[in-house]
Amino acid sequence: MGSVVISLDAELGWGFHDLEDPPDDRVESGRRGWNVMLELLDEFDVPATWAVVGHLMLEDCDGRHADHPAPPGWFDRERGSWRDREDLRFAPDLVTDILRADADHEFASHSFSHVLFGGEETDHELADAELERAIEIADIWDQSIDSFVYPRNDVGHRDVLADHGLSAYRGKSPTRDGVRGVVDTTLRDQSMIVEPEVDEYGLVNVPASMFLFGFEGPARTVAESIWTDPMLELARQGIDDAVDADGVFHMWLHPNNLTSERDDRRMRAILAYLERRRAETDLTVETMADVARRVQGFAGTDVTERIDGQIPASGN
Ligand SMILES: [Zn+2]
Ligand SMILES: [Zn+2]
Repeated sequence: MGSVVISLDAELGWGFHDLEDPPDDRVESGRRGWNVMLELLDEFDVPATWAVVGHLMLEDCDGRHADHPAPPGWFDRERGSWRDREDLRFAPDLVTDILRADADHEFASHSFSHVLFGGEETDHELADAELERAIEIADIWDQSIDSFVYPRNDVGHRDVLADHGLSAYRGKSPTRDGVRGVVDTTLRDQSMIVEPEVDEYGLVNVPASMFLFGFEGPARTVAESIWTDPMLELARQGIDDAVDADGVFHMWLHPNNLTSERDDRRMRAILAYLERRRAETDLTVETMADVARRVQGFAGTDVTERIDGQIPASGN
């Protein structure tokens, strides 16, 4: 049985707050894209994994977070240029919309404040605090967290995820993003099916197959003028691969990638194709948590053996 997974990094301003010069179009499209994606996913009855930045679920804050072990200056933008931009820092309204949607979405985590887990600047204490805080807030909302999407896909401190009882994370894609990925998959005929696997911490790595907005700007405009949308073509191919190979095809995006109606059309076309293939075949849609449950079920006692015996001393 093949399946398709869609995960979304839901972050609003938090995806950009540490950047010197945040891209305006993306920053300002977060709310719009969030609403469009919720509507489209409902329309096509596609449950997705929504990885939400925990801070968005707060009603307000002091802009300091003095008890959070982030590096000095980490929350500067909240107190500085975004002091009056509560729409970028908080979104209990939008998170409520995910939970109330008709589609049976998975509520997942994208950390508390979009700290990068893989770099040296994030030590164990900070990673732990990001998880702890995200889980605390989720708990207030009566939600638990099974899956984690690393900010900027910067995988690290997987032991912390396991310590907090999570079961899955989105691992790096074997396919390169953007134009080079298009070349690999179309010209070299590389499959976009991924193999979810239990790692040495007992977590299920559900690798990404494809970032849906890696082919933008002038190159996209030229490609679309002579051909069709290359990302739509790739997504269709990935969906077909899932059917043919009985494997998992995992697409991901940020709601803020939907900066214009052209982007909405891409998503609509992908979801319409998915709907068609679901109707014609036994293809299913799974969330990351669904995949984790299925894979852990298969792995059985293997998981326990790995947890007992093989945790590397250093971790990462
Ligand atoms: Zn804050
Ligand atoms: Zn992010």
